[in-house]
Amino acid sequence: MARRKLIAGNWKMVGTTAENQARVEAILAALTINQVEWALLPAFVHLTQVAALLKQLPQGFAVRLGAQHVSEQPGPGAFTGEVSALMLKDIGVHYVLIGHSERRSLYGVTDAVTLAQFQAAKAAGLTPILCVGETRAEREAGRTEAVIARQLSAVLDTVKAEGWGDALIAYEPVWAIGTGLAASVEQASQVHQFIRSRLRSVGDIMGDSVRILYGGSVKPANAKELFSVADIDGGLIGGAALNAADFLAIGAAASPSG
Ligand code: PEP
Repeated sequence: MARRKLIAGNWKMVGTTAENQARVEAILAALTINQVEWALLPAFVHLTQVAALLKQLPQGFAVRLGAQHVSEQPGPGAFTGEVSALMLKDIGVHYVLIGHSERRSLYGVTDAVTLAQFQAAKAAGLTPILCVGETRAEREAGRTEAVIARQLSAVLDTVKAEGWGDALIAYEPVWAIGTGLAASVEQASQVHQFIRSRLRSVGDIMGDSVRILYGGSVKPANAKELFSVADIDGGLIGGAALNAADFLAIGAAASPSG
């Protein structure tokens, strides 16, 4: 089954309204690749701005809006500072990152919280992108697959194929995020195959249909070889997504005609 590649730009806590406007306009003006799907994930406060800018999207292209975080509380309620999945859905958000390593390591997001976030997102009609990945110490200790199996099971064992729907996975080795040191094709390929085999054990359809993104220092220079790996269905892009030309070049590398 052909899986359309997704190129998702995680802008993290970066950007002013002026910078966002310039970046989105530059992306839309130079967008020629429609065989891949695109997504932009600005900070919460900029979601409505980017949603409005995306109204200028030329026909025939898919550029979706994504959020970087969501409350695990289905809400509404007394959860000061939090943003619910229903709020995100209401303003036109499509994708939401769950369990990004920065949320796990800096904000104490546990496996149990990722499950609750995933369920809240699905209940509101959002499409989760579940991020998994090992630290350098875990890799060096030979625990990569065990860590990823645990992070996947934390969600998959409860939601099962019926509750998974169109959710995605992003394999992001923690040691590759923001370091300039991407996983090699062999390293990425091995883990993507492992993830796909776990999905197959839940159900054949799931094993074939779920898109597995790679994230971690993807740049125009390494995108083509990473996206040539059979089980890599696109990228979650951090630093390089802040530059419109680099982001577009990464998408072009993911395109069958690129
Ligand atoms: C990320 O934040 O998910 C990421 C992959 O960042 P970078 O591309 O900068 O490594």
